[in-house]
Amino acid sequence: MIFKKRERPHRTITIIEEVRDGILSYCKMNHPNEGILVLRGKAKKDHILIDGLVIPPFSHSGPTFAGFPHSFLPFDPSYVGTVHSHPNGVAKPSVTDLHNFFGFVSIIVQSPYEDDDIFAYDRDGNLLELTISLDKS
Ligand SMILES: [Zn+2]
Repeated sequence: MIFKKRERPHRTITIIEEVRDGILSYCKMNHPNEGILVLRGKAKKDHILIDGLVIPPFSHSGPTFAGFPHSFLPFDPSYVGTVHSHPNGVAKPSVTDLHNFFGFVSIIVQSPYEDDDIFAYDRDGNLLELTISLDKS
């Protein structure tokens, strides 16, 4: 029997469609500034389901940076990550984004914030598989 060294599994991400739509309209509303939201959901070992959004307290945003002090967030195991927009149209995590990583997943939405402009990354900046679900279960 051959044992292969297994790579660290990448989580796959599922977003409920109405949450995805909420993210896209929030990003459009904040344009040309960045918008940021906290993602709620359920994190399992190899899969994260995102089924809700929270507007972070004391968030501040500008054309190149959106953030909030993590220490103001109450500890809540249903907070699985954050989503923010990149008004410049390039959904690539910046050094600041990776430095401010919160939770398990960082979602970046690039301008013009259409259905295909949404991308999920892990703590190391690797692109994760993202699917949209109509089903809440
Ligand atoms: Zn960013």
